[in-house]
Amino acid sequence: MDNEEFRRHGHTFVDWMADYLAGVEDYPVMAKVQPGEIAANLALSAPEQGEAMEQIFADFQRVVMPGITHWQHPSFFAYFPANSSPPAVLAEMLVATLAPQCMLWQTSPAATEMETRVLDWLRQMIGLPEGFAGVIQDSASSATLCALLTARERASGWRGNSDGLAALPPQCVYVSEQVHSSADKDVMVAGMGLEYLRKIPVDAGFAMRPEALAAAIEADLAAGRTPCCVIATLGSTGVGAIDPLRPIAEICQRHGVYLHVDAAWAGSALVLEQWRWMIDGVAAADSFVFNPHKWLFTNFDCSAHFVREPDDLVRTLGILPAYLKTREADRVIDYRDWSVPLGRRFRALKLWFVLRSYGVAEIRRRIAAHMDLAAEAAGWMDEAADFELLAPLSLALFNFRYHPVGLDDPDALDRLNENLLHDLNDSGALYLTQNNVNGAYSIRFSVGQTNTERRHVAAAWQAIQDTARGLPLAGR
Ligand SMILES: *Cc1c(COP(=O)(O)O)cnc(C)c1O
Repeated sequence: MDNEEFRRHGHTFVDWMADYLAGVEDYPVMAKVQPGEIAANLALSAPEQGEAMEQIFADFQRVVMPGITHWQHPSFFAYFPANSSPPAVLAEMLVATLAPQCMLWQTSPAATEMETRVLDWLRQMIGLPEGFAGVIQDSASSATLCALLTARERASGWRGNSDGLAALPPQCVYVSEQVHSSADKDVMVAGMGLEYLRKIPVDAGFAMRPEALAAAIEADLAAGRTPCCVIATLGSTGVGAIDPLRPIAEICQRHGVYLHVDAAWAGSALVLEQWRWMIDGVAAADSFVFNPHKWLFTNFDCSAHFVREPDDLVRTLGILPAYLKTREADRVIDYRDWSVPLGRRFRALKLWFVLRSYGVAEIRRRIAAHMDLAAEAAGWMDEAADFELLAPLSLALFNFRYHPVGLDDPDALDRLNENLLHDLNDSGALYLTQNNVNGAYSIRFSVGQTNTERRHVAAAWQAIQDTARGLPLAGR
């Protein structure tokens, strides 16, 4: 493809992109395809001869689009949002064109220096104290892995990397029962062993009980094991639980245990002063992660990872073969030493575009609006005689179920709500995901897509009622 063709197709594609965003509500939110349906339309091998871009683009529309679940549909209430926004998309176009590999300062100084600066913008925006240094990771899972590895090295006197884990006493990690599954996976990857992952009981609000944490740490100490890391969650994935940071931080300090804070989704709410109570005590944390790629209008991937002792992270992950040495290394940051992969995309640019294009005031307004919409929807369900909240509103998330008067068999209620969820999602009008709250099947309602308005939430509530009340009542 020559440059003039590139220019022509580029204009066509941007027109298509703008049309897509204007008409995204016309698509079913969840892709309406069966497993294998898309693969059946993909060639079994790469073409020997190049094809015309017109043909490729036509196939993108014909073959690919039906297999897309539309995360940017304003009736997306599933999982957590994975926000996009026009300024972020524009920045990604530029980055894709420059295609820099930003592992070292020297391999694109602007990428490194902008990453440092915009992460400090974010730090200020969410009220983290000075002294936390930021780096962009591909995901919160990776940031938490880096935290576990650093904690492991620190607790082992920096011997884990050199001597291997077999030479060390077992290292224990503490999380709440509501922790995200990435903690389990990261413990596996770090070689620390799921046997030493302690799931601490939670209180009635699903938050970690500090006295149970203290007891677990003391029991491990007494048995000769090393308490290594606590992961506190702000805004758990299932119900939005908020672990009490200050008492947890005090326990960590008392025992010299590394404290990592996972605020992957809820961190965005910290742009609002009234949510800053969640990070009371954070000055004593060792690291903190939240995902602008969830709820801060910035395309995946962009996970903001803050550390209090960058030297510890670099001591854990730093490596310096001859071919990566640069003459200015002692005066600059080489972010390759702050994460597991060597190669790094230029991810700071989209954040810089988003923060400058919206401004912090507008970002605050949008996050607050999402929370208001979720509160309104939770109120409707709470008031309806045949619906109930299984977990209350937390930020912009709540769990509910349909509970017709007189139907009290737990299994029948589970099946009814499972059918409700599938019917709603199959309708294409909205998209929700399930959860389990205290043993009961629940449906999560999470508001946060960039363009969700009141009319979308109201239509969702109408569809939920109509669909639920039209279901056959098994078990009655
Ligand atoms: C979404 C989420 C994660 C995982 O985020 P990734 O960036 O996809 O790895 C971790 N923790 C919590 C609390 C989350 O909500």
